[in-house]
Amino acid sequence: MRAPETYVDHRGYLRYCDSNRLVHRRIMEQELGRRLVKGEVVHHRSGNKLDNSISNLELMTKQEHWKRHLKEWRRARVAARTRRSIGCCVAWAILLVAGLITIGTLNCGIWR
Ligand SMILES: [Zn+2]
Repeated sequence: MRAPETYVDHRGYLRYCDSNRLVHRRIMEQELGRRLVKGEVVHHRSGNKLDNSISNLELMTKQEHWKRHLKEWRRARVAARTRRSIGCCVAWAILLVAGLITIGTLNCGIWR
């Protein structure tokens, strides 16, 4: 049997063309041998929504899923903040060096 045709929806998830159902949810249902119930979320471990291999899928509740992503968002925010402060240090260093050079040339002009 040929694999059913799929397409990528506007949120980046694969769906079956015939039923519009989400492929990763269907794969998890096949794995569990039952239909998913309301509040059950199938999470992509790698973050790659197109990788629907069962090893990349994890069943969790809405709350667990939310918490999982909250951690990621927090980590991403901290990383962004760290990057920003490093950028700030570099900017200060450049200003400092530029300032020293300016003071240096001014001094030369005054003392000459
Ligand atoms: Zn997720």
